Amino acid sequence: MTETREKDLLATVPGELFIDGRWRPGGAGETIDVRDPATGQVLRTIASATREDAVAALGAADAAFPAWSATPARERGELLRRAFDLLTERAEDFALLMTLEMGKPLAESRGEVTYGGEFLRWFSEEAPRIQGRYGANPEGTGRMIVSQHAVGPCLLITPWNFPLAMATRKIAPALAAGCTMVVKPASLTPLTTLAFVQLLEEVGVPRGVVNVVTSASARDVSEPLLADPRLRKLSFTGSTAVGQKLLEQAAQRVLRTSMELGGNAPFLVFEDADLDKAVDGALAAKFRNSGEACTAANRFIVHRAVAEEFTRRVTERVREMQVGRGTEDGVTIGPLIDEDAVEKAHTLVQDALTRGAILQIGGQEIEGPGTFYQPTVLSEVGEGSRILREEIFGPVLAITSFDTEDEAVRLANDTEYGLVSYVFTESIDRGQRMIERLQTGMMGLNIGVVSNAAAPFGGWKMSGLGREGGAEGIHEYLQSKYTLTPDPF
Ligand code: NAD
Repeated sequence: MTETREKDLLATVPGELFIDGRWRPGGAGETIDVRDPATGQVLRTIASATREDAVAALGAADAAFPAWSATPARERGELLRRAFDLLTERAEDFALLMTLEMGKPLAESRGEVTYGGEFLRWFSEEAPRIQGRYGANPEGTGRMIVSQHAVGPCLLITPWNFPLAMATRKIAPALAAGCTMVVKPASLTPLTTLAFVQLLEEVGVPRGVVNVVTSASARDVSEPLLADPRLRKLSFTGSTAVGQKLLEQAAQRVLRTSMELGGNAPFLVFEDADLDKAVDGALAAKFRNSGEACTAANRFIVHRAVAEEFTRRVTERVREMQVGRGTEDGVTIGPLIDEDAVEKAHTLVQDALTRGAILQIGGQEIEGPGTFYQPTVLSEVGEGSRILREEIFGPVLAITSFDTEDEAVRLANDTEYGLVSYVFTESIDRGQRMIERLQTGMMGLNIGVVSNAAAPFGGWKMSGLGREGGAEGIHEYLQSKYTLTPDPF
């Protein structure tokens, strides 16, 4: 029964490229196998785009731009609202699809449908609020008008870890602003994006406004488009290493860019923290999405007076976790995305252990089928360990301790990343000092998850450029024009 439902659902997903309002195979007839990371089995085989397909998709986005950017903002907003309603109606299908291709437990996939859907609702409300300014210049000799204009055709590149939310977080503000686009989802998890774009077609987004090119070679899509003068904007979510390469290419044409890159979030527990809150927060910040989140807490920096108690309590909770295929009841930790992810987690754990860390629980790969890693807790992780410098992207909780607030801040900021930090303290003054002192674009104060469509999501330092969501999100897709006219009197 369950298997039939999975098969039926997979059969509804379009497996082709979507260019200029038409689903079609890739030009070279090449394909991508999309696998279930919990079983290793192929879920669907879909089209892989060539460079020519990518250029055709940009051509369609360019041709659709004048009409779409001139469409009244209210109409654009209402299309987004209809997309929100239809996504909500089909929440169960989208949740299952995400669990199948990405692995996260169904409950988390449902959470992502809610979160991803909120970007549609939020930007449906932001579209009619795009505003300008009018006023006298200080000299009194003229009038200054500031107006907002859609940037133009955009390339949107998304990662595999949040297949729906990373797509809607870009597509919704781009549509709201009046931009057209070529979307390139990660080849590991393209099915959710394909199903979502089919939904956009159903609610009436006009031909050519949203195009999707899935490709086994991301560069075959990005290189020709970044060199094409018709492209006006790149929005990328993924690793810092790839983001840097794309920024170099974008610099050649001085493209507008938004970059949501890697993280290395510190999770600070002070001696005055409420440990119940801190333990709950730690589990959410670490094990949601099996740790495969840019916002995942990477370094637990815990005051020496409470480190032992904190370690004991998180370890107890980790012992209760159930690892398995995300579709099964009771499973709290799904598979990692692929073999490389398992190997990376294991290598980091081994490195920490050789440098003196203590293994509290876990620390082993789980035999296949599927690519699973045991939820793991390490304590007394030494300062030189790789796990404190690199993004773990797996279910490994690494604890290190400190004695003074200054030391905690120094350790927290000792990274080139600056996406998010988490702070647990019952002192208001200390909480406020942390807002001033921690070098991150976002912060959870006594809470382990911060994402919200109404908030400006984004990083400092090498974690990125620009913000997604909030009042700021739509401005990534708008450019201002200032006009001066003489004093009319
Ligand atoms: P990735 O950088 O490998 O891939 C991201 C996307 O870029 C994919 O679509 C991929 O196909 C494409 N890509 C890869 N190489 C490319 C190239 N040379 N040229 C053009 N495109 C290329 O990242 P990933 O493994 O898919 O995702 C994990 C990373 O994403 C982590 O570092 C994580 O922190 C980051 N991430 C950041 C945020 C955020 O909002 N800051 C959110 C989610 C994930």
